[in-house]
Amino acid sequence: MSDRFDVVVIGGGHAGVEAAAASARLGARTALVTHSRATIGVMSCNPAIGGLGKGHLVREVDALDGLMGRVADAAGIQFRLLNRRKGPAVRGPRAQADRSLYRQAMLAAVEDTANLTIVEGEADDLQIDEGRVDAVILADGSVLSCGAAVITTGTFLRGLIHIGETQIPAGRAGEKPALGLSRTLERIGLRLARLKTGTPPRLDGRTIDWSGLERQSGDETPEPFSTLTKAITQRQVDCFITRTTLATHAVIRANLARSPMYSGQIESRGPRYCPSIEDKVVRFGDRDGHQIFLEPEGLDDPTIYPNGISTSLPEDVQRALLGTIPGLEAAMILRPGYAIEYDHVDPRELSSALETKRVAGLFLAGQINGTTGYEEAAAQGVIAGINAARRASAGDTHIFSRSQSYIGVMIDDLVTRGVTEPYRMFTSRAEYRLSMRADNADQRLTPVGIALGSVGSTRQQAFADKIVRLAAARTAFSSISFTPNEANRLGLHVNQDGVRRTAYELLAYPDVDPARLGAIWPELATFESAILDQIESDAKYSVYLDRQRADIQSVERDEALQLDGLADFGGIAGLSNELRQRLDLVRPATLGQASRIEGMTPAALATLLTAVRRVHREAARAERQDVA
Ligand code: FAD
Repeated sequence: MSDRFDVVVIGGGHAGVEAAAASARLGARTALVTHSRATIGVMSCNPAIGGLGKGHLVREVDALDGLMGRVADAAGIQFRLLNRRKGPAVRGPRAQADRSLYRQAMLAAVEDTANLTIVEGEADDLQIDEGRVDAVILADGSVLSCGAAVITTGTFLRGLIHIGETQIPAGRAGEKPALGLSRTLERIGLRLARLKTGTPPRLDGRTIDWSGLERQSGDETPEPFSTLTKAITQRQVDCFITRTTLATHAVIRANLARSPMYSGQIESRGPRYCPSIEDKVVRFGDRDGHQIFLEPEGLDDPTIYPNGISTSLPEDVQRALLGTIPGLEAAMILRPGYAIEYDHVDPRELSSALETKRVAGLFLAGQINGTTGYEEAAAQGVIAGINAARRASAGDTHIFSRSQSYIGVMIDDLVTRGVTEPYRMFTSRAEYRLSMRADNADQRLTPVGIALGSVGSTRQQAFADKIVRLAAARTAFSSISFTPNEANRLGLHVNQDGVRRTAYELLAYPDVDPARLGAIWPELATFESAILDQIESDAKYSVYLDRQRADIQSVERDEALQLDGLADFGGIAGLSNELRQRLDLVRPATLGQASRIEGMTPAALATLLTAVRRVHREAARAERQDVA
């Protein structure tokens, strides 16, 4: 087969589907090349979407009209808003998903996307012409010519599974690894390194003794991820909690030498925030046991995912340790846990648009860039897809800033600092998290998506309607005002300073919420709860947001200062050798990005600023001479 596409996306995982769909939404003729149609949207590890920080990413993907939020809503069987008792900025929507429904809903969403063709096959090589990607070559010899390509191969590049002493070359359990593409990336000169991740054994729920285990239910009113989802319709289920015991820890300690992580068989780093059970026992000791969430993998599926005991110990040890955990004494293993090592590309090889600096039109997204998690992958996928489509039509790439989105924070962290362990999102990574809430992702990003062409007409209309409803609510809350005396008579205690306050300003008080005001002024209770929540968050954070605005403006000034004239950082006097090397590695595009490089100092930044001004002055002088 030989065919021509604007964009070819390699890999049908969480990054790949979003990249392909985003590219297609922009009108690019797009091919999604993946091993098998049946594994599109497969959840390799835990059957859940969202969580702290990750939930923000899902909302941002949704705001750009991506698929993940809608699909998770269709397949969600338990929804919980995490950190509900904390401020709205750090709340994280999370849903347990029916693994099979998720996969089916994702495949349906991909098949429904106009301009998008699924090609089943293995991408083996790239054709590069004069520093620009020209075609993707499949293992069967087919050539797919393209204007841009996106690689999203997850854990498949030279993937190697470890279960105790056993090693199996694989991209995921039961799927063969990708070898050819690793060689291609090396040939191009991209720096590759190894990382590792792991997964727990899957258990047969019919063999678990549920009596006596702590039950964890979802929220009474499930909150969807997508602003397009009217209601959650799947039956909702409970999860259960158990814990490891001293006997479990004894089994693990006695068999540490058989764990590939401790025997020296695995040398690469795994995710610090998602450690294996052997790691937890070694690093954190016995405590009072480590919590295990028993999560159902589906409504009609007896498989249970024991979240918290990811392991690469041999299968007989996995069996022995389950025997020491309350409720799991007789649990049958349906599939043993394992660890997997894989190649990833040093993300400092990429620009902030996720395009490689060495090959124009070649984009990378997802786990291949050193991240872990479906949400991190999906978010990168959308950006790579948008930018690949723009590149294919000879347009400029678009960069999402740190002050605008968690997506911007993640990409900037990756391309500026690189990774030494799998990168996952946390709210603490975002400097401007008070203004970048999960509840206002659409207001931050949907207008950007509309301008870029990634947002379809249904969402455009829904967004316009929401903005009208928000404005009406804001006007209603701002048009009712009263003196401190009047407020006190209504039971609302404010300073007796003679200043009239609006209902909106009163919402900033910790003990005042829309329900309380709605009980006094029924017209304020007529708005839907999502709109009221947002008005309340805006009011409560308004004083901090005013302060943050000045910071954001100063950061944006630095971001606007392009360093593109500085081709050779080695030639700038006054910088340490170490810093020069880091600058050469990252090649920051702006002064702002340079300021975030590890080891950067105010003095070195001033030196860079002087150097770039000199380059700009010289360029302007040369231009004047040309004109003359
Ligand atoms: P994937 O979802 O892996 O998708 C890759 C896709 O590329 C697949 O469809 C594959 O068929 C296709 N592909 C690969 N090579 C080729 C090729 N040459 N040609 C055509 N198609 C190709 N995340 C967490 O957040 N927490 C965890 O605890 C966790 N544990 C994990 C444990 C394991 C064992 C694994 C495998 C993953 C785990 N993850 C975990 C990671 C999570 O699964 C990934 O972060 C996420 O799936 C990455 O998405 P992706 O799109 O980058 O890649």
